[in-house]
Amino acid sequence: MLTNISTMGVKKMSQQEQQQTSAPLRLPLLPLRGIVVFPAMVVPLDVGRPKSVAALEQASMDNNQILLVAQKDPRLSEPQPSDLYEIGVLAEIKQLLRMPGSNSVRVLVEGKQRIRVVEIVEDDPALICEVELLEEEAGAEPLELEANRRLCLDYFQKYVKWSKKIPTEVYASVEALEDPAVLADIIASHLLVKVEERQRILEALDTSTRLEVLCQILMQELEVLELENKIQSRVRKQIERIQKEHYLREQMKAIQRELGEGEDRQEELAEYQEKIKKLPASIREKAEKELKRLAKMPSMSAEAVVVRTYLDVLVDLPWKKKSRDRLDLEVAQQILDEDHWGLEKVKERIIEFLAVRKLTTKMKGQILCLVGPPGVGKTSLARSIARAMERKFVRISLGGVRDEAEIRGHRRTYIGSMPGKIISSMRQAGTINPVLLLDEIDKMSSDLRGDPAAALLEVLDSEQNHNFVDHYLEVPYDLSQVFFITTANVASEIPKPLLDRMELIEISGYTDQEKLQIAKRHLIPKQLTRHGLSEDQFAISDKMLLEVIHGYTREAGVRNLERTIAALCRKTAREITTGKKTVRITTKARLTAFLGAPRYRHDTMDERDEIGVATGLAWTQVGGDILKIEATVMPGKGNLLLTGKLGDVMQESAQASLSYVRSRAKQLGIAPDFYQKCDVHIHVPEGAIPKDGPSAGITITTALASALSKKPVSAKVAMTGEVTLRGKVLPIGGLKEKVLAAHRAGIKTVIIPEDNRKDLEEVPAQVRRKMRFVFVEHMDQVLSEALVYRPTALKEISAAEEAQPYLV
Ligand code: ADP
Repeated sequence: MLTNISTMGVKKMSQQEQQQTSAPLRLPLLPLRGIVVFPAMVVPLDVGRPKSVAALEQASMDNNQILLVAQKDPRLSEPQPSDLYEIGVLAEIKQLLRMPGSNSVRVLVEGKQRIRVVEIVEDDPALICEVELLEEEAGAEPLELEANRRLCLDYFQKYVKWSKKIPTEVYASVEALEDPAVLADIIASHLLVKVEERQRILEALDTSTRLEVLCQILMQELEVLELENKIQSRVRKQIERIQKEHYLREQMKAIQRELGEGEDRQEELAEYQEKIKKLPASIREKAEKELKRLAKMPSMSAEAVVVRTYLDVLVDLPWKKKSRDRLDLEVAQQILDEDHWGLEKVKERIIEFLAVRKLTTKMKGQILCLVGPPGVGKTSLARSIARAMERKFVRISLGGVRDEAEIRGHRRTYIGSMPGKIISSMRQAGTINPVLLLDEIDKMSSDLRGDPAAALLEVLDSEQNHNFVDHYLEVPYDLSQVFFITTANVASEIPKPLLDRMELIEISGYTDQEKLQIAKRHLIPKQLTRHGLSEDQFAISDKMLLEVIHGYTREAGVRNLERTIAALCRKTAREITTGKKTVRITTKARLTAFLGAPRYRHDTMDERDEIGVATGLAWTQVGGDILKIEATVMPGKGNLLLTGKLGDVMQESAQASLSYVRSRAKQLGIAPDFYQKCDVHIHVPEGAIPKDGPSAGITITTALASALSKKPVSAKVAMTGEVTLRGKVLPIGGLKEKVLAAHRAGIKTVIIPEDNRKDLEEVPAQVRRKMRFVFVEHMDQVLSEALVYRPTALKEISAAEEAQPYLV
C-alpha cells in the first residue's frame, strides 16, 4: 500500500549520521509482505503479527529505528531467515498508533538507507539483526548518469500518462529532483509492479545500475500498457460497432414498421432461415449467402424478387427425400393390367425390367424407351409403372424443344430466368427418385442456341448425372436415383447417342377389336367418371362403338376415340340435366345426332375395280395408312410425270417401275412402242403430304401396268413391297402397322413380300384370321393377283371397260 508520499519526507542522511551508523548495527526487523520500501519513501503500515509488533515496540523504545526487509513469499506468517531478502532499508518510525480493541498497530515509517542483513541474532520476542549499512555509489560518469536520468524521466512521464493511475503532479515533483539516486528510488516507489521487480531496484546498489534497471522495468511496463491500451480500444470499437448495428437495426425496423412491411419481412427472412437449416450443408452455404443478400435489399426491388425465386427453388427442391420402392412384381402386373388392356408383350417386358431392378440396384443406365404411334398408351404406361413402384410421376414434353436452356435453365443474370425442365420437374416431384417421363424425345431439334440432345445426354448418362449442373441452380444436383422413361413415335429419329443408352420397347397400333375392348373397359368408364356420370346413365352398343371407331376416328392409337367418347359424354350430360334418365346409343341415327355425319368412309368393299388405280400401304408416324396410287396414260412423247410431293427415292422407284413395265410389255399385252407415243402421269393423292420410300414399288408398277394394259386393279387388294428392275420383290418395314391399316380400311387381301412372312406373327391373330395374305417374290405374281385378269388383249375387253377411251 502506497500512500502519503511526498518529497518533503525525503532527506539525505547527514555525514555525521552516516559515521554513526557505520559501526555494526543491531536493530529489530519488521518483515514486509507484498511491499518493498525504498529510502526516502514515507509509508503507513498496518502491523498485526506478534513478532512484528514486538519489533516495533522495541524500536520505539530505542531510537525509533527499524529494519524493513521484504519477505520472498508473502503468504508465510512466520518467515525464517532464509525467507527474507538480504537487502532492505533502515527506516525511522514517524508515528505509532495502537488500534483500539486489537493487537495490531498502525505505523508511519520513512525509509532512510539501504542495508544488508548480515545475521539474525535474536528470534524472540522480535527478530533482531545485525546489518551492514550500504553507501550510495555513483557507478558511472555524471554525464552518463544524467543521460540515464533523463531517459528514466521520459519513460516515467509516459508511464504516468498511460497508466492513468498516478496523479500527474507526481511527475512534476519527481522532475524537480536533482539527485539521480533519489529520483530512481522515488520513481520506483510509484511503480505499480511486482515485489520482485521492486526488490531488483532496491538491490541495485550503485545509481547507474539502479537507473538502468528502472529503465528496463519502465520500458517493459510501457509495452504492457501500450498493449493494454490497444486491446482496450479494440474492445471499445467492437462494442461501439455492436451498439451501432443494434441501433441501426432498430431504426430500420421502425422505418419498415412505418411503411407497413417490417414484420412481414422479418417473418419472411426467418421463414427462409428455418427452411435453409434443413438443406444439406453444401447447399446451405449457398442459400445463406443469398439470404444475406436478400436481407440487405429493399423488399420489393426487382433483384429481391430474383433472389426470392431462387431461394424458393433451392428450398423446394428435394435434396434427400426419397420414396420407398415397391418392387412386387405381382402387384406391378396387377396395376399394369388394371390400367391397360392387351399389350401383353409390352407388359411382359416391363415386368422383366422391374425384376432385374429388384435383383440388382447397381444396374445403372437402364432407360426404357417406349416407341409407337400417338395414343397407344405410352404415357399412361409410364404412369402405371410409377404407380406400381410407388414412385412419384412427372412428365416433360420434349416436342419442339430446340434450346439447350430449356433443359438446363438460364443463368440468373437474365431477368425472369428459371431452372430448366429437368430441375423444375424434380421440384414438382418432391422426391429424388421419381419416374421421369421424357415425352417425344424424337421431336427435339437443335439450332444456334445449343443442342438440347447434348444436355439430355448428360441427364441420361449414369456416369455424369449424379452431378447435373443447371445454369440457374449453379449447384450440382443428383439425378442418379431418377427412373427415366422416354417415348418416341419413330425410333430412327431419336438422336443416335441417346438411342444407344435406351432399351426400346415397341408398341404398335390397335386393331378395331382391341380398340373396342379398350373403349369398353377403360375409356368409357374413365370418361363417365370424369363427366360426373354413372354407368347406368349411358350405354352404347358394340356395333355403334365400332361405328365410332370406323367413322369418326382414323388412328393407330385411341386418343381420338377417347376424345369422341368424351364428346358423347358431354352430350349425354346435357340430356341428363334436362331430365332424361338414361342415354342409349344403338342406332346410326342416334350416333349422327350426337356426333354429326361420319368423318371417314372406310368401306372400300363397294368400290369398283378401276384401271390405273392401285392401293398401296404406307407407314407414317401416326401408324399405317392406305395409299392410292393413280397412273394415267395420254398421247405424248414418252414423258414420265410424277406428282404428289414424292421424295427422291419414290421418284426413282417410279422410273424403275416404268422400265420394268416396258421390259414386260409383251407379256402384259401392252403395245411395245407405247413409250414413243404417250406420256405417263403418276399421281399419289393427298398431294400436300410429302411421301417417300421404296415400299410403294409394287403398287406403282401395278398402277402403271393396269393403266397401260387396261386391266383393272382389284379394289379388294392392297399391297406393299419394293421392286427391282428385274421384277424381284424385296421386303419392307412397318408391316404390322400397314396390315392393321389395311384391316381398318376393310381390305381383305394384302400382297406382301415373301421375306416379310415372318413379320406377320406380330399381327394379332384375330386380324390375320380375317385377311388373306399373298406372299410374293416376283412382280408377275403381284400382277396376276392384283389385276383383274383378262387373258387376252385388247379385243376381248369387257363391255364395262369399253366405255372408257383407250389411249394405246
Ligand atoms: P401416347 O402417350 O402413346 O400418345 P397416351 O398414353 O396419351 O398415348 O394414351 C391416350 C389414352 O389412351 C390414355 O387415356 C390411355 O389411358 C388410353 N390407352 C391407350 N392404350 C390403352 C390400353 N391398352 N388400355 C387402356 N387404355 C389405353
